[in-house]
Amino acid sequence: MPFTEKSLIARIRQRAPSGGGVVTGIGDDAAVLRIPPAHEVLVTTDFSLEGIHFRRKWHPPEVIGHRALTRGLSDIAAMGGQPIAAFLSLALPRDLPQAWVDGFLKGLLNLARTFKVSLAGGDTAESPAGVLIDIVVVGSVPRGQAIVRSGARAHDRVYVTGTLGGSAAVLRGLFAGRRLRARDFPQHFHPMPRIEVGQFLRRRAIASAMIDLSDGLSTDLAHLCEESRVGAEIEREAIPLAHLGKPAKPVDPILALNGGEDYELLFTARPGMRVPRRIAGIPVTPIGRITSDPQILLITRGKPVDLPPKGWQHFEGAGRSRSK
Ligand SMILES: [Mg+2]
Repeated sequence: MPFTEKSLIARIRQRAPSGGGVVTGIGDDAAVLRIPPAHEVLVTTDFSLEGIHFRRKWHPPEVIGHRALTRGLSDIAAMGGQPIAAFLSLALPRDLPQAWVDGFLKGLLNLARTFKVSLAGGDTAESPAGVLIDIVVVGSVPRGQAIVRSGARAHDRVYVTGTLGGSAAVLRGLFAGRRLRARDFPQHFHPMPRIEVGQFLRRRAIASAMIDLSDGLSTDLAHLCEESRVGAEIEREAIPLAHLGKPAKPVDPILALNGGEDYELLFTARPGMRVPRRIAGIPVTPIGRITSDPQILLITRGKPVDLPPKGWQHFEGAGRSRSK
């Protein structure tokens, strides 16, 4: 490891925001969290592994820290919750430069500050190969109000936030050897979890079911339909494509269907529900409907075809953790 465990924890503690729902954070045997009265606890855990979720030559350390925490925050957003605290476990190779760790913490803690999330603990170890990151995020939601995947019913409408395919299009560019700067492509390098949108949908009781788009529309829609025991029809032309570059051009529609890591929200709402076209500044687009027939179909100019779950396998052959 680039530091002793003690000095690494001291560095994290120095920089970590604290307070909020954290009564006791780093420095004790366990964190003490305070959950608001009449709330339930949300817990989510996500790996970010070198060679699977990122490559050090493509992703600056700040970006890796940001994206690692986004994965956890996006899961809290998908439940309509409020994040409270994050826990970071890091296994680092011995030869990793100290500046890398500082950059990683900077990216992670900047995002934590944006959402007033405290870094309240974790663990460190030496890794035999590659950087291994595990993030646990704890949040809360009013009792009985978490938006689950299993609430969709036939005739519900299907919606997505933001635009899709941007992150995968950038990854495709990186694979093709293009030098893409992090500040020019936030879709891939600095995705923002849709915490405010998720909370709005919960407070107004708009969403009947919800999931975040981490693996790709085709795969995440299949998860939602499976949990709700329904199917869906998606209108291909309705899917909001990300636009990239200068001048901005729409991404390959296949990437909007199967590309992962957009961290937008996919949700359903009853047919009569009024759904705003924009929530917290983020566009909301209807893309189809839920069916009682469990098939998932893609409709292109009126013609239905099967839409198999083909979520983006980023680093093919490397295996891949499936996020929850
Ligand atoms: Mg998720």
